[in-house]
Amino acid sequence: MGLDEDSLEYHRQEPPGKLEISTTKPTNTQRDLSLAYSPGVAAPCTEIADDPEDAYTYTTKGNMVGVVSNGTAVLGLGDIGAQASKPVMEGKGVLFKRFADIDVFDIELDQDDPDDIVTSVKAMEPTFGGINLEDIKAPECFEVEERLREEMDIPVFHDDQHGTAIISGAALLNACEIADKSLENLEIVFSGAGASAIATARFYVSLGVDPDNITMCDSSGIITESRADAGELNKHKQEFASEGDGGDLADAMAGADVFVGLSVGGLVDQEMVQSMAEDPIIFAMANPDPEIGYEAAKQARDDTVIMATGRSDYPNQVNNVLGFPFIFRGALDARATEINEKMKVAAAEALADLAKQDVPDAVVKAYGDQPLQFGPEYIIPKPLDPRVLFEVAPAVAEAAMECGAARDDLDLDAYAERLEA
Ligand code: NAP
Ligand code: MG
Repeated sequence: MGLDEDSLEYHRQEPPGKLEISTTKPTNTQRDLSLAYSPGVAAPCTEIADDPEDAYTYTTKGNMVGVVSNGTAVLGLGDIGAQASKPVMEGKGVLFKRFADIDVFDIELDQDDPDDIVTSVKAMEPTFGGINLEDIKAPECFEVEERLREEMDIPVFHDDQHGTAIISGAALLNACEIADKSLENLEIVFSGAGASAIATARFYVSLGVDPDNITMCDSSGIITESRADAGELNKHKQEFASEGDGGDLADAMAGADVFVGLSVGGLVDQEMVQSMAEDPIIFAMANPDPEIGYEAAKQARDDTVIMATGRSDYPNQVNNVLGFPFIFRGALDARATEINEKMKVAAAEALADLAKQDVPDAVVKAYGDQPLQFGPEYIIPKPLDPRVLFEVAPAVAEAAMECGAARDDLDLDAYAERLEA
């Protein structure tokens, strides 16, 4: 049976879908039930009415994330609608649970207008400790997230934007170290100017990249201030418009240190790779087919090409699962009001540092006994490495406390031990 048929069978097995609700307290006696529900439940209600933060003490709020989509940009399938996006959102719930023991309600909203989405999600604030926006198309996703971040007092995080940004950001930090390039002098070309590319470019600037050294291309070539359609470009593209005459992707790549592909497969050929600066860094992350294949990029030149893709069958897989479970874990445990730039940078740095440590045998075995040692073929940790939780969550919680985004004051040593237990 092929993957599609296997997946349909997996999903329709009784009970249909992949998640269920379970109870966490005794429910056997009449007494138990009068504690769980009426009349006993009035006591925690009263406590929370007096102090809303008590919701973290007496309810599931502090371990509950809402995964919210309207189904307008689902995987590579496009605008398939809210109902059809539900398997993906349930799947996101599976990953949150499996990697960080976070509970998820998946919320599929049959709404396209950003105003409506903002109203809906904001009204759900009492239920959740955090909101993971998912598969909402650009440019609406930018406005929805920006407004919710302003209006809500819990973390709001659009994973399609920031997941890629943070994980490829970790990869960039290590690639620069290996190739002996400095962040502030990097010439970076982006292919793609959608949700993930815009957020990734912004995040690289947070890491120390000079925005003047970023050249961004969309389906019409280099985005410039003088391009014929410059007046119609959304403000997010305008933010990265270059001065100068423009051109196509090949023009942009000549002499560049870094190529970041968040567009569509097959746009880059070996000649374009050959035109890049010495020891180039190539993150070709279009799914399922990268902008240029792993072997083609490596074989294009004699010097070192540091290559990452979104694929699990090659080294350096940029996979969002390295980020969101652990970033939310740290944010929830610090009872954070947001996931801000400092917390994202802390996550990227923790991932980058972890890739420099010795890899446990169990992880090496899980990945087919190939050597995993810091270098061009191993610049970011593997998704199934259990240490990612212990490194990233405390780093995010610590950053939240340092910048005043945490409601709770965690003892970080005790917290790290609790995670490892
Ligand atoms: P998006 O918001 O739809 O943006 C896609 C961008 O690609 C748009 O800016 C589009 O240009 C551009 N594009 C399309 N065809 C092009 C062409 N022929 N030449 C140059 N640019 C072209 O999508 P997204 O969510 O950012 O995702 C983009 C890609 O990155 C997808 O393949 C996705 O699977 C991949 N991705 C990978 C990861 C990972 O972790 N590996 C994470 C996120 C996304 P216009 O603006 O002109 O339409
Ligand atoms: Mg997504």
